[in-house]
Amino acid sequence: MTELSSILRREMALKLLKSGFIPEQVVATEAALSCYGYDATRQQTEPLLALLPDNEKQLKTILKIAGEKSLKIFPRGAGSGMSGGSIPAEDGIIVSLTRMKQILEIDEDNMIATVEPGVITGELQEAVSRRGLFYPPDPASLAFSTIGGNVTENAGGPRAVKYGVTGNFVMGLEAYLVNGEKIKCGNKCIKSVSGYDLTSLLVGSEGTLAIISKILLKLLPAPETVKTSLLAFSSMTAAAQAVNAMFKQQINPSTIEFLDQHSINAVRPALPFTLPKAADTVLLVEIDGPEATVKTQAEKLNRLFQDEALLIIDAENETEREKLWQARRKLSPAIANIAPHKINEDIAVPLAAIPEIISRLESLSKEIDLPIVCFGHAGDGNIHVNVMLDKNDPSQAIRGHKAIDRIFTLTLELGGTLSGEHGIGNTKSAYFNKEWTPATIATMQALKKAFDPGNRLNPGKIFPLK
Ligand SMILES: Cc1cc2nc3c(=O)[nH]c(=O)nc-3n(C[C@H](O)[C@H](O)[C@H](O)COP(=O)(O)OP(=O)(O)OC[C@H]3O[C@@H](n4cnc5c(N)ncnc54)[C@H](O)[C@@H]3O)c2cc1C
Repeated sequence: MTELSSILRREMALKLLKSGFIPEQVVATEAALSCYGYDATRQQTEPLLALLPDNEKQLKTILKIAGEKSLKIFPRGAGSGMSGGSIPAEDGIIVSLTRMKQILEIDEDNMIATVEPGVITGELQEAVSRRGLFYPPDPASLAFSTIGGNVTENAGGPRAVKYGVTGNFVMGLEAYLVNGEKIKCGNKCIKSVSGYDLTSLLVGSEGTLAIISKILLKLLPAPETVKTSLLAFSSMTAAAQAVNAMFKQQINPSTIEFLDQHSINAVRPALPFTLPKAADTVLLVEIDGPEATVKTQAEKLNRLFQDEALLIIDAENETEREKLWQARRKLSPAIANIAPHKINEDIAVPLAAIPEIISRLESLSKEIDLPIVCFGHAGDGNIHVNVMLDKNDPSQAIRGHKAIDRIFTLTLELGGTLSGEHGIGNTKSAYFNKEWTPATIATMQALKKAFDPGNRLNPGKIFPLK
């Protein structure tokens, strides 16, 4: 850090403390700042300051003071992002929304929750479930990620198959432009078509357009029951055909997760049940809804695959359900244990292209002589692709990183996208022009300019820094 920066750091911190901020809200020491310079991509930088407003008035004060010095602003939730979205520049200020964490209202009559951005996703789910209501988006990070982070990344989870992703539940937003002005979009109306849909634009905007300060979320009546089944197949093609057959037979699962053969081998030793040796692909299927419908659909699922599946296990109670989910939950830690320096992408392809992308990834894996482990959301085409690297062999990292470009090319050739849920951030910005034409990117950049003419809000994300 330059001497000029440390003078600026002290000056800004003092100014904020004089404006009514308490010391816990003004993070200005090197050690404490390291907690605000990382995310799940394992990048680490040290911002000039990290500020934690308690309310909108304080958020406005921060934007005003930062504006006077033309400082860059980096919004941050829990820092669990997987594309470097919240990673700050050294001359920028982190605005952490984690202290703005009130559930302001659960409007049971309209089935809408109004929340501040720092509310933890799982805590909202529990709060609404105590009222018999349901907030379906379920990113695996729900125990620690914030609703603000979920909205700006448009996070999804296993239940996206039936219910959709975070964006499908955002009815309205309030947000601050980097110049301190507040914008409002959306409302509690189910039908609302007045003007441009700025709510949808802010969803998935990765903190580059505005800082979200209030969120209106649609809720649903809680499903009466849920039934979980695990099905093992001898090939990915058989499993993909099974997914297709489910939809054609009017089975409406809330979740269809899949594990490929490498994933199965990684978790097999830790499983509380035995999988057949010939199991090449495992599907974890959940059906939810009224008791009678779930019973009928679960029976149909069993009938449909009793000959084709190598194994079907139905969970009869919550303990058994948890056991089946262990196959999926133990997977990420298991493969991270095998290859802590793996490269992890979250491509998505149209449903029908799943077998083809898996087969192309298998060929690529042979060509680059590195294992590629695939698992994820078979019901929505979002695949977590993990290129496994041995940290003791640096040549593997070079081959692995080169392979990422190929993975994206294969994905886009099949009509897919660079990211199903983790966003572009700074890790995929160099590949952004593979997916979109120059005119499309220019239109996106014009929108960015309209919101943030000085490029001070989360620069270097989505679009590469020039
Ligand atoms: C173990 C693990 C499992 C995960 N599983 C999933 C999964 O299943 N599905 C999934 O989609 N993701 C998953 N993620 C990724 C991550 O949890 C999500 O992207 C999540 O939405 C990020 O929330 P956050 O509060 O941590 O946001 P951060 O990481 O702090 O920020 C993410 C982005 O949002 C911006 N931002 C945050 N708050 C605001 C705000 N109030 N206003 C404007 N911009 C803001 C930041 O600038 C940044 O660009 C996982 C991550 C981990 C570590």
